[in-house]
Parts: sequence; C-alpha cells; structure tokens
Amino acid sequence: MDRIVVLIKQVPDMEEVRFDRERGVIDRNSAGTEINPFDLNALEAAVQISEKTGAEVFVISMGPPSAKEAIREAIARGASDGVLLSDRKFGGADVKATAATLAAGIRCTGPYSLILAGMQTVDGDTGQVGPEIAEMLGIPHAGYAESIDEVDETSVTLTTRIWDGRYQKKLRFPVLVTVTKDIASPRLPSLKSKMKARKAEIPVIGLDDLDGYLKEEETGLKGSATRVRKIVIPESAERAGAVYRDDMPAAIDALIEVLKDTKVLEVRQGEGI
Ligand SMILES: Cc1cc2nc3c(=O)[nH]c(=O)nc-3n(C[C@H](O)[C@H](O)[C@H](O)COP(=O)(O)OP(=O)(O)OC[C@H]3O[C@@H](n4cnc5c(N)ncnc54)[C@H](O)[C@@H]3O)c2cc1C
Repeated sequence: MDRIVVLIKQVPDMEEVRFDRERGVIDRNSAGTEINPFDLNALEAAVQISEKTGAEVFVISMGPPSAKEAIREAIARGASDGVLLSDRKFGGADVKATAATLAAGIRCTGPYSLILAGMQTVDGDTGQVGPEIAEMLGIPHAGYAESIDEVDETSVTLTTRIWDGRYQKKLRFPVLVTVTKDIASPRLPSLKSKMKARKAEIPVIGLDDLDGYLKEEETGLKGSATRVRKIVIPESAERAGAVYRDDMPAAIDALIEVLKDTKVLEVRQGEGI
C-alpha cells in the first residue's frame, strides 16, 4: 500500500442554496460551497490508513477553478497533496463524462493501490461516479463501505452495508471503494496543517495535459450521454394544523375529513368507515 487517491467534489451548501425557478437551475451564488460530506468521511478513512501504513493520500477533484479551495481544505484535513482537473471543455459533464475525466486524471497522476470516494453527493446524488470510474479503470469496486477492518500490503478487508445486510469483503489492490458516513468521522484541521494548506501549490490539469488519457469527445457536454431537458423544482408544501382540546367527536370528524380530502381514506358508497 503506497498511495491512496481520494475523490472530492465541491458542492453548494444545501442548507442555504436557492433554486432559480425561472431557469430551473441551482443559483450557485446563493450559497457558499463545501466539500461533499461523504468525501470528508472518505478522506478521514484515508488519513487513518496513512497514519498506520505511511501511504500518501492524494486528492483529486474535478470542477471550476474555485474548487482549488476544496483541495486546500483536504490538505488541511490531512491529505498529502492534490490536483484539480479543470477546463472549460469539461463543463456540462454528466456522470459518464465526469467519471471518464476523473479516471483519466487518476491514470495520469500516478500509481495507486486504493481509490476512495463518497457513496453519493448531496447535489447530483446519483452515486454512480465511483463505480463507473472503477469500470473505466478495469478494477474491482466495493460500494457503501461502513468500516475498513484491515489493510495489508496487497489487500483491504472491509464491511459494506446494503439495506439491512452487512458483508465483509477482502479485495486485492488496486480497488475502488465508496464509503458511507460511518467509515470515519472527519477531523478538524490543526493550525499547523492549515498553514501547510495555505502555502500548498495546487496544480491544475486541463484537457491538453490529459493527452493520451482522455479525448475531447469523451468529456464535457460532448462526452455526455444524457441531456437535461427540464428541471422541475417541487413547490414546498405549506403545513397546516388545528388543535382540538375538549371536543373529541369534533376532532375525529375533522380528522376523517382531512384523511378523505387527501385520499388517505376512501369511503365507498353505502359503506361506513
Ligand atoms: C447533461 C448534464 C449536464 C450537467 N452539467 C453540469 C454542469 O454543467 N455543471 C455541474 O456542476 N454539474 C453538471 N451536471 C451534474 C453532473 O453530472 C454531476 O454533478 C457529476 O456527474 C457528478 O455526479 P454526482 O454528483 O451524482 O456524483 P455521485 O456519483 O453521487 O458521487 C459519488 C462520489 O464520486 C466522487 N465525485 C463525484 N463528482 C466528482 C467530482 N466532480 N470531482 C471529484 N470527485 C467526484 C465523490 O467522491 C462523490 O462522493 C450535469 C449533469 C447532466 C446529466
């Protein structure tokens, strides 16, 4: 085990973000950004493995130039180094094009034993990028890992959780693993690591730098197999309530009316309830 790659995506703060209902897009100026929460869990798992094995923790992100800050934060939280894949030609990438670009970035930046990614993002939320990268790299993957039980020179043993089932798996390197939040709780950056992160040079890799690893028609809008035709943002439903203190029969009648109106309760002709 010499090198762990961690994939991190910069996402809008979903607590604050607003939607542009006219255009059907996220208003990215309405909120700050953060590292996708599951990616912080993946990063912490990688740092803990590194503390035991001495492995390098290398972070890769694909995004706009501002995503450099996410890499800087990852370094403050214990990563050794990182790169940003950024190019206007990567813009408009769907899951397939995103995975192709990240897979090319991984191959271009050096050897790896283990790739860790979050199980999903809080904005795109497809959970497909990790498994697609594994497929493109031709390596095995394990999804939804909730603990890393053992790591040795040639393999990792981990427990994955799928629905109510837990599965312990041993996989030989190289392997890609997507993680749940239970894998490890993210640490806070220390003052020393913040200083290191502030000074760190974050290389930016564009399409030309990926020559031999990625073609223009495999990335961005050109490489995307899907097109978003329309985004519909659901109206937030208003809550309503009524309090009945003393008149229980009136409360029951009112409740039955609500259940009938909302089609939870169906009363057929000639039948009581
Ligand atoms: C036609 C189309 C156009 C789109 N255009 C845009 C666009 O212009 N701009 C835009 O921001 N989005 C765009 N998207 C959304 C974009 O496809 C997704 O944001 C992207 O593919 C990642 O998917 P996800 O967020 O569902 O990741 P998931 O599969 O849910 O992520 C799983 C894990 O993969 C890793 N990961 C995912 N994305 C990245 C990344 N970028 N860098 C590093 N690691 C990552 C992380 O570890 C993450 O936890 C578009 C989608 C479509 C279908």
